[in-house]
Amino acid sequence: MNGSALYETFARAPLAFDRGEGSWLVTDSGERYLDFAGGIAVNSLGHSHPHLVAALTEQAARLWHVSNLYEIPGQRRLGERLVDATFADKVFFTNSGAEALECAIKTARRYHYVNGAPERYRIVTFEGAFHGRTLATIAAGGQPKYLEGFGPKVEGFDQVPFGDLEATAKAIGPETAAILIEPVQGEGGIRLLPAAMLQKLRALCDEHGLLLIFDEVQSGIGRTGKLFAYEWSGIEPDIMAIAKGIGGGFPVGACLATDRAAMGMTAGVHGTTFGGNPLAMAVGNAVLDVVLEDGFLQAVQDKALAAKQALASVVDEFPSVFEEVRGTGLMLGLKCRVPNTAVNAAFRDAHFLAVPAGDNVVRLLPPLTVTVEEIRDGVERIRTAAGKLTSVNGAGGAS
Ligand SMILES: *Cc1c(COP(=O)(O)O)cnc(C)c1O
Repeated sequence: MNGSALYETFARAPLAFDRGEGSWLVTDSGERYLDFAGGIAVNSLGHSHPHLVAALTEQAARLWHVSNLYEIPGQRRLGERLVDATFADKVFFTNSGAEALECAIKTARRYHYVNGAPERYRIVTFEGAFHGRTLATIAAGGQPKYLEGFGPKVEGFDQVPFGDLEATAKAIGPETAAILIEPVQGEGGIRLLPAAMLQKLRALCDEHGLLLIFDEVQSGIGRTGKLFAYEWSGIEPDIMAIAKGIGGGFPVGACLATDRAAMGMTAGVHGTTFGGNPLAMAVGNAVLDVVLEDGFLQAVQDKALAAKQALASVVDEFPSVFEEVRGTGLMLGLKCRVPNTAVNAAFRDAHFLAVPAGDNVVRLLPPLTVTVEEIRDGVERIRTAAGKLTSVNGAGGAS
């Protein structure tokens, strides 16, 4: 055996945590880390949120799993709540983001199939996208480093430069079924698509009879200060994949669709063993209890504004380390002038956790429950780390 018993697919930091408390992770030896990685936008309500712990333990004492061959009341309820809060009429629950995207892709293809156009199966996607690690979703994401060595790429994805409307229009042909995009790219480096661009994509879809699919696996569930990022744009998708934040740490995903878009998804066409199981639904409903509370999303917006302003001043202070702050809500990124992996390691030394992303960015994805004091604390730790990087590089900080 070489090293550990686990696949070597992750470059893990030499850190193991024993427990979590709100915005903090604690090691065996009691060292505390301020967690602005949030399990990559998963721990939407921080760690050990009492309402989530109560919902999960209560459900665990009653019933863990029944098959989707039976009614699952918690699933019906969470589905109705998501429908009430969004553009959607129908929901399919999964265990992960990639599975939610698989369902979204299948939903779009089936829509055209049942409408007598089976040749329309191609989907336009965008450079820098990330949609998951299944065979179809690596093809949708189009990143060569994720595709290499896995045999023929799944057919039917046409990739265009991020935000390039002209290229998007050109990529649409008689076989095109849909356009798939993250309103805010996460893995791609916290790249925001302007509202005007989303509106134009909607118009293109309407003009050509295409379905518009949003991937809000990372940007959804309050991350941008609205329940979903698309709400900032004034337009709506036909299909949307969500996951990460809706489970608050329990594996939950979902594909949402309008009645029209979901018309091909009839009995027997798609399925899942674990998706929508009672434990997952208890937690998903508990997450919505909190996020939909009066004032919760407004508080996220207020805290986000304070965070972004504080980060902007750190960028000004350390121009040799940081280039800019980007993003929206509590989905923020620091574009780095030194390798983002070095920045991330320096953060870790300051007991501050963030996540590297594409485009040499470090992502900050604190829990939506983060306090203003914790944001201030985090910014101080960033300052400490940047100071160390500045002296290592021999470059001056702010003059
Ligand atoms: C994380 C992520 C996925 C994949 O989710 P998994 O749960 O890892 O399968 C898909 N799309 C986006 C935008 C993501 O951030």
